[in-house]
Amino acid sequence: MVIPLHLSVKQRVDQMIAGAKARYGCHLAINQSHRTAEQAQQFHICHMFLHNFFKHLKPKHVSADGRTIDWNRLSDPTVTWDIIPRPEQDFLRTKNHQPAQRQLINGRANWVAGYEPDKQSTIHAMKQFLQNAHVTSMAAPGKHLCGEPCGCGGHASKHITGLACDVGGMDRLGQLILTKNRECRTMDEAVDHFLAEYGLWRPLAHLPGKAREVWHLEALPAHHRHPHPVQKADPSLHHKLALERSSHHYAC
Ligand SMILES: [Zn+2]
Ligand SMILES: [Zn+2]
Repeated sequence: MVIPLHLSVKQRVDQMIAGAKARYGCHLAINQSHRTAEQAQQFHICHMFLHNFFKHLKPKHVSADGRTIDWNRLSDPTVTWDIIPRPEQDFLRTKNHQPAQRQLINGRANWVAGYEPDKQSTIHAMKQFLQNAHVTSMAAPGKHLCGEPCGCGGHASKHITGLACDVGGMDRLGQLILTKNRECRTMDEAVDHFLAEYGLWRPLAHLPGKAREVWHLEALPAHHRHPHPVQKADPSLHHKLALERSSHHYAC
């Protein structure tokens, strides 16, 4: 098969999904293709306050754990969040799980008495938000170098520019390919070879632990566009390329 260089990531994914169904009877589903900058930043702020799985990124105002956004910064009424116009509506919740309320007193922002944000309620709202969007791993910022209340300096998400697409069902696809194709030894190898036929690859699928994302697809980089037969390929080729790439890559 000729690798479709002129096609967008989304077009390649559509062809790949049709191919998985026709060739292996496997039903794949797109979880996320495009995100707006605001959505990406919402996911990112939740991720950076709750977890921060990024190896090399740290919020500017870091909590005692040395990794996540400091609650004092997150709940500071005078801080204007970048890209997210109304954080109270989305995340900052009172003890009773109501949106916190801000008011201006002598030109300075304050929380209305009884409507201050509560840490546990906010954690609850953020967890729910990520869960509803199926965001379980790292989420990159909505703008280059990030912004308040995080300011970690990370690169913007590739989902904003349509350079990435998250597709569910990859492990199932791997199993189905292995039952028909004995040349591949592992599910990951089977999926990676299949994706390469459609000009796609998974730069985060070979990372350890929570950083691993088997569903995050991007266009195959130019240096990997030479088709290689399974039996001649270096078995660790995808792994090596993924490591090389992920050292410059800041997740989806
Ligand atoms: Zn950040
Ligand atoms: Zn992704």
